[in-house]
Amino acid sequence: MITVKEADTIISGNIKKYPSVRVPLQSAFRMVLREDLIADRDLPPFNRVMMDGIGINLSAWEKGVRTFTIEGIQKAGIPALNLKNPEACLEVMTGAVLPQGCDCVIPVEGVEMVKGKAKLKDSLNLTRMQYVHIQSSDHQARARLVSKGSRLLASQVAVAASIGKQEVLVSQMPKIAVVGTGDEVIGIGQKLAPYQIRRSNSYVIQAALELCGYNRVFCFHIRDDKDELKTRLGKMLEDFDVLILSGGVSRGKFDYIPEVLNRLGVKELFHRVKQRPGKPLWFGKSKEGKPVFGLPGNPVSTQVGVYRYVLPFLDKSIGIWSVPEEFVSLEEDVEIKTDLTYFLPVKAESRQDSCLVGSPVFPNGSGDYASLTKADGFIELPPDTFRFAKGAIARFYRWKI
Ligand code: AMP
Ligand code: MG
Repeated sequence: MITVKEADTIISGNIKKYPSVRVPLQSAFRMVLREDLIADRDLPPFNRVMMDGIGINLSAWEKGVRTFTIEGIQKAGIPALNLKNPEACLEVMTGAVLPQGCDCVIPVEGVEMVKGKAKLKDSLNLTRMQYVHIQSSDHQARARLVSKGSRLLASQVAVAASIGKQEVLVSQMPKIAVVGTGDEVIGIGQKLAPYQIRRSNSYVIQAALELCGYNRVFCFHIRDDKDELKTRLGKMLEDFDVLILSGGVSRGKFDYIPEVLNRLGVKELFHRVKQRPGKPLWFGKSKEGKPVFGLPGNPVSTQVGVYRYVLPFLDKSIGIWSVPEEFVSLEEDVEIKTDLTYFLPVKAESRQDSCLVGSPVFPNGSGDYASLTKADGFIELPPDTFRFAKGAIARFYRWKI
C-alpha cells in the first residue's frame, strides 16, 4: 500500500497535456485559454461620456457662463458631433463619444433644462474632463488583458467578447467515460427489487466533472461479468481519453476490474492507498498512455476520490497547474480511529474574522452518501495522528470548482 503523497506523485507523473482547439466563444465557458487575450484597440476606445447630462467647453464656465444654449444631442452610437459655439452646450448620453469642442460633462442632476437652454445649478465645481472616461485610460491597444492558462469564467468571457473573439483557442476537453459496475446496482428508472440499489456514483462523478467544465462526459454501467467488462472496457479504451470506473476494485470474489484491466494491457501504477475512505483506489495507464481511475464503489469513497485525485489530474491535463489551495480551521476537537490519512467531510463557514472554519460531518460509514449533502467538501487529516484540536488547520477540498 502506498501513501496519499506517493499516489499524488504517481498520478502527477502521468499527466499529459491535451491539444488545443478553436471553439466558438459561447461553448468555451469554463475551458482553459491557450492564447493570450490581447486588446485590439484602446480601452476605452474613445473619450467616453460617463453620465447623462450636457457637454460644455470648460473655458466658457471659467469665463462665468452659467446658461448654455443646447445645440443638439450627442447620442451613444453616433459619430462625435462638433460643438459649434464654445459658449453653448450639447446634451450628452452615457456611452456616447465626447463631442469635439467639449471637455467637461455635467450630469443632469446639476442642470436645469428650460426652453432649449441648460442652466447650471449654483455651487457646481467643475474640472476638465470630469465624467469622461478617457481613451486608453484602462488599457492600451495591444495590452495583454488575460493570460493563456486562465479559465474562461464570466469576466474572461466578457473580455474575449469585447475584443471580438468569436472563437478562442482553448485546451481540448478530454472525452471521459464514467463506468459504474455491479450486479446489484441498477438504473434510476428501473423497477427495483429489495436486494438492489439505484446507481448514484455515475451521477456524482458526471456532476462533479461537469461543474468544473468537463463537458464530454459519457456514463455507462457494466455488470460484474469478466467477459462483458473486457469487451466493453476494451472498446472504451479506444473511444475515450480517460476512464473513470467505480466499484469492483476491492477484494471481493467479483471485483474483477484490476484483473480485466491488466488483461486489456492497462498497466497498474498503484492499487490501494493508505487512506480512509477509499483504500482500494486503483490507478493505471493504457498502452496508449490513457489514464484509468478505479474508484472504490462506496459512494463516499467515489465522491472523495473524484475531488481528491481525478479533478486535480484533469485540471492539470487541461493546463491549470496552480489551483489556490483552501484551508479550514477545525471548529471542534476531532478524534480519528485510524492511522491512515483521513478524509473528513466538513461544513465550511466563513467567520466574521474572515477565517474559514470547518465543522465535521461524520458520515455513518463510507456508504452514507446522503450525509455528504450537509457538507461543503472534506478535509484531509494527515496519517498517524489520532487527535486534532479545535483550531487546527487542515487542507480543504470543496465540492465545487
Ligand atoms: P464495490 O466497490 O464494487 O465493492 O462496491 C462497494 C459498495 O458500493 C457496495 O455496497 C455497492 O453496492 C456500492 N456501489 C457500487 N457502485 C455503486 C453505484 N454506482 N452507486 C451506488 N452505490 C454503488
Ligand atoms: Mg461491486
